[in-house]
Amino acid sequence: MSKTTINYQLFTNLKTYFGYDSFRMNQQEIVDSVLNKKDVLVIMPTGGGKSICFQLPALSFKGVTIVISPLIALMKDQVDGLTANGISASYYNSSQTAKEQSVIIDRVIKADLKLLYVAPESLAGLQNVLNEKYISCIAIDEAHCISSWGHDFRPSYQQLGFLKSTLPNTPFIALTATADKATRDDILKQLRIEHARQFVSSFDRQNIALEVRSGTDRISQIIKFIKKRSNESGIIYCLSRKTTEQLAKKLKTNDIPAAAYHAGLNFDKRSKVQESFVRDRTKIVCATVAFGMGIDKSNVRWVIHYNMPKNIEGYYQEIGRGGRDGLKAHALLFHSYADVIQLRNFANGASNEEFQIAKLDRMKQFAESTTCRRKILLSYFGELLADNCGNCDVCINPPQVFDGTVIAQKILSAVYRLQETEAMGMIVDVLRGSQNAAVLAKGYQGVRTFGIGRDISWKHWQHFIIQLINQGFCEIAFHKNNALQLTEFSNNVLFNGAKVLLTKPVEVTEIKALVKEKKTRTKRTKSRTKTNTNSLFERLRLLRYKIAQEEDIPAYLVFSDATLKEIERKRPMSDDDFLKVSGVGQRKMEVYGDEFISEIINFMGSKVKKTKKKDTALVTYDLYKTGMSIEEISIERKLASTTIYSHIAKLYSKGKDVNIFDFVSKSEVEAVRKAKIQLNAPTALSPYFEYFNKDMDYFKIRLALSVVDAM
Ligand code: ADP
Ligand code: ZN
Repeated sequence: MSKTTINYQLFTNLKTYFGYDSFRMNQQEIVDSVLNKKDVLVIMPTGGGKSICFQLPALSFKGVTIVISPLIALMKDQVDGLTANGISASYYNSSQTAKEQSVIIDRVIKADLKLLYVAPESLAGLQNVLNEKYISCIAIDEAHCISSWGHDFRPSYQQLGFLKSTLPNTPFIALTATADKATRDDILKQLRIEHARQFVSSFDRQNIALEVRSGTDRISQIIKFIKKRSNESGIIYCLSRKTTEQLAKKLKTNDIPAAAYHAGLNFDKRSKVQESFVRDRTKIVCATVAFGMGIDKSNVRWVIHYNMPKNIEGYYQEIGRGGRDGLKAHALLFHSYADVIQLRNFANGASNEEFQIAKLDRMKQFAESTTCRRKILLSYFGELLADNCGNCDVCINPPQVFDGTVIAQKILSAVYRLQETEAMGMIVDVLRGSQNAAVLAKGYQGVRTFGIGRDISWKHWQHFIIQLINQGFCEIAFHKNNALQLTEFSNNVLFNGAKVLLTKPVEVTEIKALVKEKKTRTKRTKSRTKTNTNSLFERLRLLRYKIAQEEDIPAYLVFSDATLKEIERKRPMSDDDFLKVSGVGQRKMEVYGDEFISEIINFMGSKVKKTKKKDTALVTYDLYKTGMSIEEISIERKLASTTIYSHIAKLYSKGKDVNIFDFVSKSEVEAVRKAKIQLNAPTALSPYFEYFNKDMDYFKIRLALSVVDAM
């Protein structure tokens, strides 16, 4: 096959099976390499589009692509997603019976599967088929789990090292969102694919707005934030299990339904929370970082860090769970010194203490930055952003700098007078002349700096002290009860007239165009939905939810938010136009097209009565009556033949004169009749499809049902 033919085939498959018109950065080159049997390592941020890199080549290979994946709980969703796109896929893990497993092995032997998801510990069960006669490609998802350098080491991944010697000519594709170079090298070494080409994608996720706020009074800030975003899904990350539960409770008492999630809950409870979140039933989860790995839910609209994360890798991975559909998402981080101190205490005494503290310091610098936050983030991952991003709080509301020398002198002299033994809180108390018990007990009301800063609020003093620390004019002695201490530069300020520039504190109430802009936008949509509670988007969303319930899959597997928005905008009214929407492939058009198109036509009909379109099934009926075959009608109407068959079924149900048995046999009708009884008359077609082991086409089932229902 020539290269252009291959390319043509790839693009056709990309559209037919996944509904996309173009590749994202690196995807095409990666797919090409895999198809040329080269080993590759793919580094892409969460939501970057890793799956296509092995799912697309899998379609072109003769044998099966084995996908090693660490989380059994998530395999089903991944397989459901592929099935919804018309791709033959399954999984193999310890949740299955021996019989189910042997059916899978048979399918591998018959080359009846394109993709098989396997838990690493279950690989041994596939021993008999683990050879190049049946296996065309090995994909290792979350590949950093193989490295003890990574942040999520899993011993079961270690046995993957042997795979390359068993399958020396099979292309391996390892994928991860961990950028760290040491981990990367280790992955290649452990998998024995040192020569693999590495593809590192940009880590920039421009659609995620970045914001950092002071942690004071965060609960009421969070409540306000959420109330502006009703109906949106979000995650709140907390440091401790207890906080997740307390916060969820607090939110509930404020009429915000939220669930808590942490590793201390039993397995059942955790699966329930996760499932309910993925399926849009629970909108908000307060969680420890145990939550979220591998969750593919594409419509998470915001991520809040209630506490400061330990390092930038973790932070970036967590906020990356927002906006995977490419639509706008918001990441809000609360920064408090108490958190930093607690995280330092956690790190204390750890074998890699210095390493952990260095990472925490980078995180802190990010939170305290007065320059574009995205620049800092990307520079951490080795990328240089030429321009400011325009989508972070610093870009939108640049801090105002002023001459803060006198303020700095007051702070440093208080530190000096208290003999460098007191932490930040006491320094502020003394500056503000507080008469509290701790101050009086130590007799600090007598020192010279007592009460010299009553004109500045507690919070603002704190803000200024933090800036002095960041600029190196004083420091926190973490090993001495976090006492503030002077540094070699302090004297310059105290005695040598050095000038200190400080930034003005930003008030939360006046904060950020970011939020203001959002506010007006929500207001606008609100008033729109008020006058028209039945907007097209809402109707499409409800239809999606209904289909998802019927098929028992998460809503985003039917269509992502981005696809739904595009359907709303383009209002396709024919199969051809529906297929043009990004995210709509051939199978989804055939299975869901009719219902969505009818919804749009109904919606348009209810808006513009005069141009009421004739029922699409009736148009088919007119053609049918002229004696045209299904194929001919399908060509004439530019609709898939499966759509025409569904019209025939509908027409038959309405009592129109069609020879239904030209299209479905009596024995098929009888089989469906029995299935209906055994399955308890489900409303969706997919249970029938499964019942017949996918041997009876959807359109046949539909035709047969129209006869059964009329019996
Ligand atoms: P990752 O595994 O890297 O976190 P996914 O493979 O789940 O990311 O992809 C994230 C989202 O991007 C999914 O909703 C996916 O359908 C979408 N996507 C991937 N590739 C493309 C593409 N070429 N065009 C449009 N959307 C894409
Ligand atoms: Zn910025």
